Amino acid sequence: MPSDCLFCRIVAGDLPSAQIYADDSVVAIRDISPQAPTHILLLSREHIASVRDLGPADHDLMGKIFAVGAELARREGIADDGYRLVVNVGGHGGQTVDHLHVHMLGGRRMTWPPG
Ligand code: AMP
Ligand code: ZN
Repeated sequence: MPSDCLFCRIVAGDLPSAQIYADDSVVAIRDISPQAPTHILLLSREHIASVRDLGPADHDLMGKIFAVGAELARREGIADDGYRLVVNVGGHGGQTVDHLHVHMLGGRRMTWPPG
């Protein structure tokens, strides 16, 4: 685990977070700077820097992250109205934390295209 990685430290419990879900491969926390009434981050437990680094061995992990997101959306009561899943990749993608995560935003109508 890279000791300088913010999300590794959160996953390990070394830094506080508002955690709402955890299993052997996925941890979900509330974003510290929410951009919608519901803003959840779905983190891989394992340190993977970015979607850029995914390979064939990660197929199950990504399926799991999306399935956990669907379940949490139901629990949060945003599934029927709809929500948005976002993955920022690299500099132009707007990624600021280099640890794999999927944003789940809901509770308001999203606009398109994103900025
Ligand atoms: P990204 O810009 O796609 O890499 O997303 C990183 C997200 O992490 C941003 O939405 C931040 O608000 C969020 N974030 C940063 N630090 C924390 C923290 N300590 N706890 C929860 N979310 C955080
Ligand atoms: Zn990490």
